Amino acid sequence: MNTKIAVAKGDGIGPEIMAAVLRIFDAASVPLEYEYVEMGKSYFDAGHSTGMTAAAKETIERLGLLFKGPMETPKGKGVKSINVTARKVWNTYANQRDFRTLNGVDTVFSKAGIPINLTIVRENIEDTYGGIEHLLTNDVAVGRRIITRPGSAQVIRYAFEMARRKGYTKLACGHKANIMKLTDGLFLETFYEIAKEYPDIESSDIIVDDLCMKLVSRPEMFQAIVLTNLQGDIVSDLCAGLVGGLGFAPSANIGDNISIFEAVHGTAPDIAGRGIANPTALLLSGILMLRYLGFTTAAANIENALLFTLEQGVHTGDFGDKSVASVNTDAFADAIISNMGKVPAKGEVVAQPDIPHKANQDHPTKNKLTVVKADTKEEIVGVDVFVESNKQPGELAEIAQRKLTENTQLVMISNRGTQVWPTGSVFTELVNEYRIRFEKKDGKEITQKEILHIAGELSDDFKVCSVEFLMKFDGKIGYTLAQGQ
Ligand code: NAD
Repeated sequence: MNTKIAVAKGDGIGPEIMAAVLRIFDAASVPLEYEYVEMGKSYFDAGHSTGMTAAAKETIERLGLLFKGPMETPKGKGVKSINVTARKVWNTYANQRDFRTLNGVDTVFSKAGIPINLTIVRENIEDTYGGIEHLLTNDVAVGRRIITRPGSAQVIRYAFEMARRKGYTKLACGHKANIMKLTDGLFLETFYEIAKEYPDIESSDIIVDDLCMKLVSRPEMFQAIVLTNLQGDIVSDLCAGLVGGLGFAPSANIGDNISIFEAVHGTAPDIAGRGIANPTALLLSGILMLRYLGFTTAAANIENALLFTLEQGVHTGDFGDKSVASVNTDAFADAIISNMGKVPAKGEVVAQPDIPHKANQDHPTKNKLTVVKADTKEEIVGVDVFVESNKQPGELAEIAQRKLTENTQLVMISNRGTQVWPTGSVFTELVNEYRIRFEKKDGKEITQKEILHIAGELSDDFKVCSVEFLMKFDGKIGYTLAQGQ
């Protein structure tokens, strides 16, 4: 029986490259059936605020798999990107992108004879992509970076499972835990916690700036890397550059119930409707999808035909040898179809005995990420009150001292994260937002009410921008110290 999937053709070049890819699938007798869904720019224009019809949503949720062309989100209408919404709403928490050298696609590395073959797994929901930002004063904007233990665990476990399925021997965690000690620290801690379940895979970690440097100087060091959302976004585009650009970058957004396969590039409005777009990235995403579904022989056959075609120098206008005439989208697909059954000279792709990642078709009835560790001892030890002020730190401290309760003490004032009171440097430049830190005195206890009372008292003298509790979890402090504290 054929497997049914949802297909959205997309906008711009989407319908052209999707048609080409599905023709190649048919030629390879891929056992798939397609249910086309209505989503994209014209559905925003027709008044669907999410960019898709109710029927499209129902179909995708029922089938659990969406193969999509690029889509345009109308600008300036206040609507959210359909691509980001789809990933978030359906909890496709792992973004997998495979990067490998394609013969026929010249890059700095291919010319130097350095092969690239690596996979990036990027967390797809959390981090700064929550988009929780506030302008606290006219001069100071603040964004919230959310990293959670269960959210990190989901994507890290997926990365280890994927590494095992692909027969990789190692997985690295990219991070910036030396600076973001609590957020990236939590991601890194979770990585090593889960690594214990995969002793067959060598686990290591690397600071993200060092990772970028090593990826362009010694890319062969890595097989797979798992990262948080923003760092993963940047590092995966860097990797796209290693293999020839976005035209060769496939992407899979994997969730427990629904997964989305798409190319990384957009709708290419500048060339849309001309039939000259390069379908390779969407085809590579389709190959990823076939492997995910367990159709590994069809995936290998198509990939071999693609690689053979690229080796022959057949290319669309956006890449390849300019001295050889380019072909259009249809002719490129025709060439791949006529090369079905052929294998590339520089390394045939063998169908791996892949164990497909099976989507869970059950509708979730309870939120499995709301984990409460019952035996954790939580304690409030103080508060950071953020206020708007143009005063000098000493004056601020004087006012703050007057707001103390008998259980609290003033411990520190900082500006842009650098301590400016009780000690500091006259060379530290100040902006008009300060953090005033109060802590409980030794042997005393404080309550939320007392803390909010202090913030309330400060509001007599300042605009209070925000309030953050200082907590200890099992005696470990759950906040960072200021620079210089
Ligand atoms: P783009 O990727 O569409 O285009 C950038 C450049 O690359 C253009 O010159 C384009 O012609 C070229 N290009 C892209 N894909 C190509 C292909 N397959 N073959 C040949 N050339 C190709 O990026 P953009 O111009 O910044 O964005 C255009 C639209 O796409 C925007 O509305 C954006 O929001 C949307 N977009 C959608 C997705 C998605 O659906 N996942 C991703 C990125 C951008």
